[in-house]
Amino acid sequence: MEKILIIGCKNTMDDVCIGCSRCMVAFNRREGVFAQYKDTDAQLLGILSCGGCPGSSIVQRLAQLKLWNMPLGELPTKIHVGPCLSDHCPYVDDVITKIQVKAGIDVIEGTHPYTPEKVF
Ligand code: SF4
Repeated sequence: MEKILIIGCKNTMDDVCIGCSRCMVAFNRREGVFAQYKDTDAQLLGILSCGGCPGSSIVQRLAQLKLWNMPLGELPTKIHVGPCLSDHCPYVDDVITKIQVKAGIDVIEGTHPYTPEKVF
């Protein structure tokens, strides 16, 4: 069973993008990039922020998540990087490279498909 960890931008999560709801709705509905889990029993394990600019603490945050979740037997098998990070972060290349090099599991860019094309 896949266990999904979403990583997003600390400046945006649950603030600009209220409740991180679009990522969770998309996962529950298996829409957007989560369509690949359609008809599977994949679970959402957590939504983790990068830790703040310039993203230098992301590896430590992954290690902390492992520390907390290890006793539960609940570790991620795939990481999804939210559009708040992959489309807007000025440090995106460094942050995603750190995740890819250190996580040891698949890292996939993209989550929900609900970003509006235009404001008006
Ligand atoms: S490093 Fe990037 S993803 Fe993290 S808070 Fe700053 S802008 Fe957002």
